[in-house]
Amino acid sequence: MLSCSSGSYQKREINLIPLPNEMVETDAVFSFNQTSTIYLENKELLDGIEAFQEMIEQYSGKRLDIVEDIEKASIIVSMQQELPVEGYELEIKETGISIEASTAAGVFYAFQTLLQMCPIDVYTDTNVGSYTWQLPGVSIKDAPEFKWRGMMLDVSRHFFTKEEVMELIDYLAYHKINVFHWHLVDDQGWRIEIKKYPKLTEIGAWRVDREHLPWNARPKQKSDEKASYGGFYTQQDIREVVAYAQKRFITVVPEIEMPGHTTSSLAAYPQFACKEGPFTVIPGGIWPITDIYCAGKDETFSFIEDILTEVMELFPSKYIHIGGDEANKAEWKKCKNCQARIRKEHLKSEDELQSYFIRRIEQFLSNNDRILLGWDEILEGGLAPGATVMSWRGFHGGIEAANSGHDVVMTPTSHCYLDYYQGPIDNEPEAFNGNVSLSKIYAFSPVPSELEGQAKAHVLGGQGNLWTEHVTTKEHMQYMSFPRMSALSEALWTNAKNKDWENFAARLENNFESYKAMGLNFSESMYTVKLDTDFDLDLNKVRIELSTEAPNSQIYYTVDGTQPTQSSLKYETPFELDKTTEIKAIVYKNGSVRGKMIHKSYQIHKATAKSVEYLKPFSESYPGSGESNLVNSLRGSRNHSDGKWQAFRGNDLELIIDLNKPESLNKLVIGCLHSTGSWIFLPKDISIFASDDKTNFRRIGYTKNNIPLTGESQIVDYEVKLDGTTARYVKVIVGNQNIAPIWHSAAGQDVWLFVDELILE
Ligand SMILES: [Zn+2]
Repeated sequence: MLSCSSGSYQKREINLIPLPNEMVETDAVFSFNQTSTIYLENKELLDGIEAFQEMIEQYSGKRLDIVEDIEKASIIVSMQQELPVEGYELEIKETGISIEASTAAGVFYAFQTLLQMCPIDVYTDTNVGSYTWQLPGVSIKDAPEFKWRGMMLDVSRHFFTKEEVMELIDYLAYHKINVFHWHLVDDQGWRIEIKKYPKLTEIGAWRVDREHLPWNARPKQKSDEKASYGGFYTQQDIREVVAYAQKRFITVVPEIEMPGHTTSSLAAYPQFACKEGPFTVIPGGIWPITDIYCAGKDETFSFIEDILTEVMELFPSKYIHIGGDEANKAEWKKCKNCQARIRKEHLKSEDELQSYFIRRIEQFLSNNDRILLGWDEILEGGLAPGATVMSWRGFHGGIEAANSGHDVVMTPTSHCYLDYYQGPIDNEPEAFNGNVSLSKIYAFSPVPSELEGQAKAHVLGGQGNLWTEHVTTKEHMQYMSFPRMSALSEALWTNAKNKDWENFAARLENNFESYKAMGLNFSESMYTVKLDTDFDLDLNKVRIELSTEAPNSQIYYTVDGTQPTQSSLKYETPFELDKTTEIKAIVYKNGSVRGKMIHKSYQIHKATAKSVEYLKPFSESYPGSGESNLVNSLRGSRNHSDGKWQAFRGNDLELIIDLNKPESLNKLVIGCLHSTGSWIFLPKDISIFASDDKTNFRRIGYTKNNIPLTGESQIVDYEVKLDGTTARYVKVIVGNQNIAPIWHSAAGQDVWLFVDELILE
């Protein structure tokens, strides 16, 4: 089983991620084996060695000895004061390995680089005894471009165990990420034990189990229901995670949200809210949430300071994240305590009250020698003096803060949100409605061109954020995070002049082998074929354009419904369809299939490109392509705002199609979207009428929806059988559900009807 491990290895291709900033490969080969030893010139660097030693010990069963005699050492680790803080120099020669750094962190990164050059079974095999690796000759001078290379994980919306978090930390360390931002607190769960306030986890960590319902359609807990879904970390768990991360030179930055996003703590201690409780932990995406800490009561501040005191004992991080985002101030407007505070402090508005709140917490943290970090909303009403800003609503907040002399971490949704889709939506699990593809995150640069001079230096770096509304398992958490975090690691470590998308993609593909060996459930969405369509109403043709993110790969497709192979049509340029066609497409690289196949049908039918008269208007927010939308052959995806869907709110769809001449009418297929989280419901029923004079209509078809509305998001094609009659005018009425059902979080409010095509045959 392990016989291969004791043999000798072929020299391995170098596929480092992130790419070192200077690297020269040589023909030298160094034989590394169980007798290899380390010489450590300076004890201050010892911490940088330990993780590597443990890795090798786990693999071989034998720890690498540290020897006193430099002559006998295979790896020489020495101090070089001039090197940058996290920088290192690594040289592999025929005679041995030398590592130089000015800090233990630099030594650690040198060893991470070395590990990426070792055979992949170093990550998987255990106790192999003897081994010999042929390490490739190389000379590397490396240092990170940015000092904040972060990833945030939200453990409130869904809880991840201590072990799952530690596993994530391993993958971050592999990629030289040095900040793990732990979003421990939100409306949907309080995850950190606080000794002084035990109810925070006894009550705040648990919510009523609505996991079977879409995230945005979950009603609040009822008085006879039990909160049974959730979890939390004990203080001991937290200490273990912090120590585990520290050993990998990763700082764990805790986030304790305030003043909004706090329903879980108000469920436990309602006395710190403006309005009277009781509150229950929110089981899903109810919006807006107005529950908020009362900024008028001094007790609120004592409560928060007590919590932060325990948090500071657990987390050595200089930065303490206090959230500060999306605070709904409706309660503050109504609260007599908050209004009294506004008068007493001579504040002009509730925005300034938020600023007062954050300043007061900032003062407390700074008295304790910590730095307050918050989302860019903390700029509203004036930024607290010592605060650092995490800019998420684009780069703008970060630019404003940096220009006024504050440090900034850039995490714009456009490039850094790992909860967004990473490939074509129809081929991806449900995610937040936006797209951050692998090449997009790779292109991320934390310093926007608008920043000049001194202000640039205030950008500490960047961070990927994984919010977990739609992420319920470890496997899915990894799928959303990798390889996008691999791309981000390079965007933050490697100097822009050394970045090259094609080169990165090639190294990444070779790394997939390592990821698999490590058990990482990464995404291959970069290969998925993206299909763009255009409809020419005059020519009655659909134009198809296929593309894939993966460089140096080929797309093969079929138009007859068969499975595409390398002997199918090879895609070169956009092509046109003038009859009903089913397209299937897939990516090949070096002779093998990569990623998933996509398929899509285009129906050219009797109503295609005919004129349509709307008897009731479609919504101006979702017009699709306007009056031709339902007869343009283009089908919508699961993304309701992809421009293909046309929507109706508060009224039915009612229109007349003019076929120009009498046609025989056999069947009408209507595509509808169901996405209750976005308040989009399947129709009530569908009625079809025919007429020769556009005045006297007779009903020729009818169908009722019988799909339960509680189901998951889906696209449903309703087929209505017609009686074969011949007529020129067809009237279609699709009945809107009108109001959300009683079980829905929007019960009683107007809902949407989304329709994408009327296929008439
Ligand atoms: Zn209040």
